[in-house]
Amino acid sequence: MWTSQFIQMCNGSEMPSAKRVCVIGAGPSGMSVLYHFNKRKKEGKEIPDIVCFEKQTDWGGLWKYCEETGTDRYGEPVHGSMYRGLWSNGPKEGLEYPDFSFEEHFGKPIPSFPPREAIYDYLKGRWTKHDLRHWIRFNHVVRQVTYNDATNDFSVVVKNLPEDKVFPAERFDFVVVAVGHFSAPNVPVFPGIDHFPGRVIHSHDFRSASDFKGKKLLVVGAGLSAEDIALQCLKYGAEYIICSWRTKPMGHKWPPRIAEKPLLTNVEGHTVRFKDGTSAEVDDIILCTGYHHSYPFLEQRLRLSGPNGFYPEGLYKAILWTRGGNNKVFYIGVFHHFYTFTMFDVQALWAVNCIMGDIKFPDQEAMESDIKSWIARMLKLNDPGEKVDFQTEYIIDVSKDADYGYNLDASAVFHSWIKHRMDGDITNYRSHSFTNIFTGKKSPLPHTPFMQEFDDSVQHFLNSEE
Ligand SMILES: Cc1cc2nc3c(=O)[nH]c(=O)nc-3n(C[C@H](O)[C@H](O)[C@H](O)COP(=O)(O)OP(=O)(O)OC[C@H]3O[C@@H](n4cnc5c(N)ncnc54)[C@H](O)[C@@H]3O)c2cc1C
Repeated sequence: MWTSQFIQMCNGSEMPSAKRVCVIGAGPSGMSVLYHFNKRKKEGKEIPDIVCFEKQTDWGGLWKYCEETGTDRYGEPVHGSMYRGLWSNGPKEGLEYPDFSFEEHFGKPIPSFPPREAIYDYLKGRWTKHDLRHWIRFNHVVRQVTYNDATNDFSVVVKNLPEDKVFPAERFDFVVVAVGHFSAPNVPVFPGIDHFPGRVIHSHDFRSASDFKGKKLLVVGAGLSAEDIALQCLKYGAEYIICSWRTKPMGHKWPPRIAEKPLLTNVEGHTVRFKDGTSAEVDDIILCTGYHHSYPFLEQRLRLSGPNGFYPEGLYKAILWTRGGNNKVFYIGVFHHFYTFTMFDVQALWAVNCIMGDIKFPDQEAMESDIKSWIARMLKLNDPGEKVDFQTEYIIDVSKDADYGYNLDASAVFHSWIKHRMDGDITNYRSHSFTNIFTGKKSPLPHTPFMQEFDDSVQHFLNSEE
């Protein structure tokens, strides 16, 4: 009962009854937190007061496409990193919610790799169905979160952007950080790049591949962004694309106009030189060099930092912050993922259960030792297949703890996806279809291969008769 004076936590300490929860971010992660609180409410449980602050004008996080780059109309750093022609790079069967299929949303089965707009439509469908909007204060950016030791709660300072108004601090008992981790670009410096005569952009600011039509491009990086941006630029008519890797090449079967080279060493005019002594002439450079953890609004002791890997430092179950805030700060979805929406969903349920007092976590030492053991295992992971298995094990572990009620193991889907991408033509991996892990139904094939498809509207995508 939230009206009771105290709830007893597993570590034996008494804590004032939790009354207010601050959720920061209304992307897929934050929305899953609202979804699970709402579910509890519908089950007749008394839930705390919830406020979700979202700095953008609408929900969806990265899936809400924004054309702007740099800073927005209010002078805030633009959150969006998605581009106009983006299609899902993983099969939808690896992210589909167990209680809300794409088929239920669209009224018909759809192919496995939908365009961004269709994924966004699907997400909005789940959130609208459960009427989650009323908890969100849009256009409100969280500026500062401080933990108050004396009162065991948080002071949260928020700014209303259109009104240019900073409010006095509001008090909350729990904070859920759901701001994503693909918005603060990591920008390495290469000798001579500051005098490069062409465009140099980070993938965070990449919006339209047609800007690079007819261009010779250097893409720096060997991750999913580098691969997808290289393919996008090829699709929209770039003359050629060189991808430069630091640790190891992507190793795909590339079409003739894409090649891989080792790390960029320096830039002289339009000439880019690589570690193997070779060089090339390019018009523009796109840095697909990843992102930093960035939580400038959190006081230092609440702030996750460190490298972006498959298991973060300091988070028990990769969710609960153990280094400050008296076990009342939760992070959702803040590490590399194969699984996305379902993983955020199960993490959100775990956090909601903790806040409701239904999950008993162990003492500090045991939590730290649990984190260490996951990180030690993560550091030994080599190939993508091992990473999928690691994340699958993680997801199953959290599901059991949270009593999620569904088996989210989509490892077979991801293993086939990896095989298609590594063994087949990389331009064509989106032409495969997969089977829904909950219903056993196989998706239809797309009517047009991705590289020939220039209409990414939902309506066109759904029309399989074309
Ligand atoms: C280029 C690109 C392509 C991707 N493609 C895929 C894909 O094909 N399939 C897939 O499953 N995943 C993909 N992803 C991963 C994507 O990150 C996740 O699908 C998902 O968007 C993460 O959800 P999230 O809610 O954790 O974060 P986000 O979607 O980033 O949402 C975070 C929200 O927090 C808000 N926010 C941030 N700071 C504040 C603040 N201080 N105050 C208030 N609000 C704040 C933001 O405005 C935003 O709405 C891709 C990511 C990128 C960058």
